[in-house]
Amino acid sequence: MDFEFPDDGDDGLRRMLSGEQPHDRWMRLALDEARAAAEEDEVPVGAVVVAAGRVIASAHNQREQLADPTAHAEMIALTQAAAHLGSWRLEGCTLYVTLEPCPMCAGAILQARVPTVVWGAADPKAGAVASLYRLFEDARLNHRVEHVGGVLAEQCGHILTDFFRGKRGPSSRE
Ligand SMILES: [Zn+2]
Repeated sequence: MDFEFPDDGDDGLRRMLSGEQPHDRWMRLALDEARAAAEEDEVPVGAVVVAAGRVIASAHNQREQLADPTAHAEMIALTQAAAHLGSWRLEGCTLYVTLEPCPMCAGAILQARVPTVVWGAADPKAGAVASLYRLFEDARLNHRVEHVGGVLAEQCGHILTDFFRGKRGPSSRE
């Protein structure tokens, strides 16, 4: 299998020239978490929470190991971040996640009052930020979340497609 990870070309250059802080560095840490999930035979999604330029939470999907439908990467990372801060209110935090959050995770992000979420690959089957719903922009809710999608989307998506391709192979246990 030949992988090509195109960078974001002119857009990345524009961001660099404008001095805008690229999100790639933190997303790479979330990608490391996604790889750790794949090694544990979990659907490879990773998340980190950054506050004041430091990672305060880092997690990956553990739904199978914990036999817990809520054990998505974002949920575990939010719990870790809240424990770190000693507060359920995650002010000043940015959550990075390799896959567009589902309705459950988007709901938890709203509950935690996370100001900013950066996500990688879109999830056309469950995404609640841009694909199926736009929960972070819903004026009826009492919190809005700034969000940036498509950061390192190719890498984030490849990890998932490789994982599921392997699952459908001859050694599939499903
Ligand atoms: Zn989720």
